[in-house]
Amino acid sequence: MPKKAKKIEDLLFKPETFWERASQQEIHLAMDFCDDYKQFLNEVKTERQVIIESIKLAKKEGFKEVSLDQDLGKNRKLIFVNRAKALVMVDLGEHNLNNGVKILLAHVDAPHLDLKVRPLYEDSGIAYFKPHYYGGIKKYHWPTTPLAMSGTVVLKNGQEIEINIGSKKDESVFLISDLLPHLEKERLDKPFDKAIEAEELNIIVGSIPVTGKKTQDRVKLAVLAWLYEHYRIKEVDLLAADIRFVPAYEARDIGLDKSMIGGYGQDDRVCVYTTLRAFLASKNQGVKVLYLADKEEIGSVGTTGAESLWLENVMDYLLKQTKSSISLYDLFRKSWAISADVTAAFDPDYKSAYDKNNSAELGKGAVIEKYLGYKGKYMTVDAEPKYLRHLMDLFDKKRVVWQTGHLGKVDQGGGSTIAVYLANRNLEVVDLGVPLLNMHAPYELSSKADVYSTYKGYRVFLEG
Ligand code: MN
Ligand code: MN
Repeated sequence: MPKKAKKIEDLLFKPETFWERASQQEIHLAMDFCDDYKQFLNEVKTERQVIIESIKLAKKEGFKEVSLDQDLGKNRKLIFVNRAKALVMVDLGEHNLNNGVKILLAHVDAPHLDLKVRPLYEDSGIAYFKPHYYGGIKKYHWPTTPLAMSGTVVLKNGQEIEINIGSKKDESVFLISDLLPHLEKERLDKPFDKAIEAEELNIIVGSIPVTGKKTQDRVKLAVLAWLYEHYRIKEVDLLAADIRFVPAYEARDIGLDKSMIGGYGQDDRVCVYTTLRAFLASKNQGVKVLYLADKEEIGSVGTTGAESLWLENVMDYLLKQTKSSISLYDLFRKSWAISADVTAAFDPDYKSAYDKNNSAELGKGAVIEKYLGYKGKYMTVDAEPKYLRHLMDLFDKKRVVWQTGHLGKVDQGGGSTIAVYLANRNLEVVDLGVPLLNMHAPYELSSKADVYSTYKGYRVFLEG
């Protein structure tokens, strides 16, 4: 029998903003939550710092670091760390793994400038570090952006040195110079992507030469003398070091109404922070897992990327230690996951790059992304209709403000997320995250409404 709708307007899907839908009390909660988030952004500028800070927050909630080489004992709240760049947190509650687990996965890395193997040189009285950029940057963003230096150096005696310069107000920052507009004629004839070449992104680190020496490169020598004096580092030690430069900007409120946040590395630290808080706050309905992986921006490869078999290693350990009776394959098959990553918010200044109807908008909440990929859905994970239905209904029931999104127009570009690497393990997975303006720029913009709504979405997923 055909059935007519009672109210035809109800047939429409019309996402509204969080600001219109949430109670005053919830808006306050969102603002407070985002104050903590800004603080987190200011503490963490590198992958390693994200891991350290996340462990610190988890330990306050009773989590303990566990080694795969030791027995679990009575521990139920566990942290596994891989090479200080990736971690898995597990809250077993009172369960074994026979019914599968719920996984939140976010990535800790963000576009930045790594140093080349032999980075230090001098030219015309200025000492430079030569970088190799990491991830998808727009090169013209980086000259004249104040930079902080952060890294790990292992000395010959085995001592590990941590370097952090430029994130505190009284410390020096570093800079890549740009050409003045008066002399730019030659550059203006170049195509946009060639206007600034990778090899022109050189970081200024000093300009006072050593005195009393007849050698060349006396400024370079002075920089080495400084590094040795402060960190016992010689030039050869830089070869094996892991040193990177990141924007030194502080995370701040944006707008007269303070409704937004500007900060570096929000892709994907906004999802790191919101998944972490959701993971720590949620009540156990089963085994929950938080996986923070590295190397997403360069393809999720390597030991600490989401493709790494380290996840299998941890899960295999847990199956044995909890005396679960299912196989690793069955564990993945029975598990559910959210790939927690940011997406593009519709930008009214660049309308032609987006399909407005299929784009996320700032302030309209957590973004469910059914699929990503590019061209003919290349590298796409298509979330299953049943799983999507489940999440949409759950969010509506728990009053999570949500919307849908997609990365721009078809054939305009596109992208993929770490959802792929979970889906390849035969897990049910969907992308849920925060929409950003100017993603991958040194200073990215998010809406507090979306940050809070996404946190709530992750929490509801773990509890639902
Ligand atoms: Mn991302
Ligand atoms: Mn990214």
